[in-house]
Amino acid sequence: MIFIERIGGVACIELNAPPVNALGLKMRKALSAAIQELDADDQIQSIVLRSALPLFCGGADIAEFRTGAVWDKPDLPDLCLTVEACRIPVIAAIAGPAMGGALEIALACDHRVATPDALMGLPEIKLGLLPGAGGTQRLPRIAGLEAATRMILSGDPVSGEFALSCGVVDKLFENDQDFHKRVVDFATEIARLEAPKRICADMQVTHPDPKGFLAEFRRGIEAKTRNLVAPQRCLTSIQAACELPLTAGLAQEKAGFAELLDTLQSRAGRHLFFAERECTKVPGVTRTDRPRDIASVAVIGAGTMGRGIAIAFLQAGYPVTLLETTQGALDQGLDQISQHFQRAVDKGRLSADRAQIFSSNASGALNYADLSDADLIIEAAFENMDVKRQIFENLDRHAKQGAILASNTSTLDIDEIAAVTSRPEDVIGLHFFSPANIMRLLEVVRGAKTAADVIATAIKTAKKIRKLPVTVGVCYGFVGNRMLEPYFREGSRLLLEGATPKQVDDVLENFGMAMGIHAMADLAGVDVGARVRQERRDEIAHDPAYQAVQDRLFELGRLGQKTGRGSYLYEGRTRAEDPEITQISAALAEEHGVARRDINDQEILERCLYPLINEGFLILEKGIATRPGDCDLIWANGYGFPNWRGGPMHYADEIGLAHVLNRMNHYRQSLGAYGEMWFTPARLLTELVSSGVTLAEHFDAKKENS
Ligand code: NAD
Repeated sequence: MIFIERIGGVACIELNAPPVNALGLKMRKALSAAIQELDADDQIQSIVLRSALPLFCGGADIAEFRTGAVWDKPDLPDLCLTVEACRIPVIAAIAGPAMGGALEIALACDHRVATPDALMGLPEIKLGLLPGAGGTQRLPRIAGLEAATRMILSGDPVSGEFALSCGVVDKLFENDQDFHKRVVDFATEIARLEAPKRICADMQVTHPDPKGFLAEFRRGIEAKTRNLVAPQRCLTSIQAACELPLTAGLAQEKAGFAELLDTLQSRAGRHLFFAERECTKVPGVTRTDRPRDIASVAVIGAGTMGRGIAIAFLQAGYPVTLLETTQGALDQGLDQISQHFQRAVDKGRLSADRAQIFSSNASGALNYADLSDADLIIEAAFENMDVKRQIFENLDRHAKQGAILASNTSTLDIDEIAAVTSRPEDVIGLHFFSPANIMRLLEVVRGAKTAADVIATAIKTAKKIRKLPVTVGVCYGFVGNRMLEPYFREGSRLLLEGATPKQVDDVLENFGMAMGIHAMADLAGVDVGARVRQERRDEIAHDPAYQAVQDRLFELGRLGQKTGRGSYLYEGRTRAEDPEITQISAALAEEHGVARRDINDQEILERCLYPLINEGFLILEKGIATRPGDCDLIWANGYGFPNWRGGPMHYADEIGLAHVLNRMNHYRQSLGAYGEMWFTPARLLTELVSSGVTLAEHFDAKKENS
């Protein structure tokens, strides 16, 4: 776990607890004991804290937040005090990431040295917390109020270069084989100088107007953080650093941490944190399923998605060949990709050299024979089974053996697509979200015959292009769009029953959704949904009023933002209510015999959310999603569900499954035939309520038994 090396008067404490040197109780005890032992040793004049792993340390063991072991002595604040109280200088040698508690320990050291590519951050805010081991007190004293506030409130790490510029580190050393030697030389020199200890208790936050700055900062983040507790608590704590001595500030910070630890928001943040770590564990895929090598990529279709997918791969360094049906479409696609990189250069986000490399890595093709070298081919052509079939027949003829053949379809059956090839084991769904170069979520759709190593390759490649791969099974809409369907259905139905688009959207946006249903439909294009419903008309025929308002908008050519009119009227992206929607809704309600009434906000929220959650239960029941956390990741990362509520399934556990079931049954009865049609609770939901078990408990038990 830790190893001590003595080099002359320098003692190096090396952390070696793979995978991330987590600061769990055992590690804290070992470190604390080592520091005290070395401090008591007259032969030692300085201590270096370093790591044997490619990172310095990933920070606290977050599992301890749930069990309460985070408070077991020595806790992290104690450990920082032990470092600070050392009679001799302590130097943190940071190569690679130093996150959260790790950076807090480093801040308690007298000196920090790092590699230019080191990453230092306090990501606690992303878990609905504040840095509780001195981060809010020591960082403002060391880095200055402004840099510290930005780091703490964003939770994003900074590079070694940046850390040097604001005084977080004293020196940068190249990340090569001499790094540790240079650090020892540095530590020797520090000891030789016999300079007084550099501890935060002796420092003050220097800023001409801390109160003014923090008030301004608070105002600046108000809109973005209006539902969140942690940002306010972080700012209060930072203010304490400006006004109080270190000890008092630390006490206040610790109290804030304890308070936040017990909030719904922090539980939600931790749930998503663990869900992300778990989602790449896919049943049936083991370590022996070695990912295939992916060196080159081809994308079929240079439309909205094809271009975005190509950009995602190009900027991760892959050469990409785009295939289109006409030279015109191909040229246009390649041109738009180059323009994308040029815009990034113009905005200062990308160097001209890199833009040039990315653009020149993109090539075009009109014939399938030109794709015969590609290791991964992703189809992003029209959403039509005949088109997809034809493309996959061509791929089967021309792609090399072992190439992975993927489709970006949002709704079509991957197994049906795979069946036209002689190699269904190589076929997989890679469902990107729009804009594909920006959205992090990727649904990896495993077909009935998809080989395990193909799934492993998809997951590994997704990570390389910085996506979050969540593996799902085949069903209409997979996980995300399938759960979206009842949500949209209710949003539309509520208009018939008397609500307005704004009323529905306001309720959902106040709940924390990034965008309400009607604003989202207008953004995606009213025609997109209408076409999908046309394809599925047999399945929804039993509900003649199904999304009737949306279908009428489509007939009227009100396609959403792109035509300036949908459920709202648009000036650019700014939406305004349109009274005509009420007239359209009322006329359709009469046509379909739906009674109109006043609908309150609670009903809107429950009618939209609970069927969505119920669909999640159905998906879990059928094994389309492996875990509730997978559904949550998909909704938090692809559909604007508030992270701080942890995703729809976690939210269901928080409000209580019995409550969800009761309300489903309530609407099943109160909405008559409509309720009977759409509000039948999922079997799994009913069973868990009967046995008094939460969804999380049920799946934890399943994991233990497997
Ligand atoms: P799009 O209409 O913008 O682009 C499709 C492109 O494919 C066009 O450029 C067209 O010329 C080309 N094409 C059509 N048939 C082809 C063929 N046989 N060979 C080569 N190229 C062909 O469509 P899009 O929005 O980019 O969607 C593409 C796919 O991605 C669809 O399956 C869609 O369901 C899926 N998808 C779309 C979104 C989205 O938000 N737009 C999100 C996820 C998935």
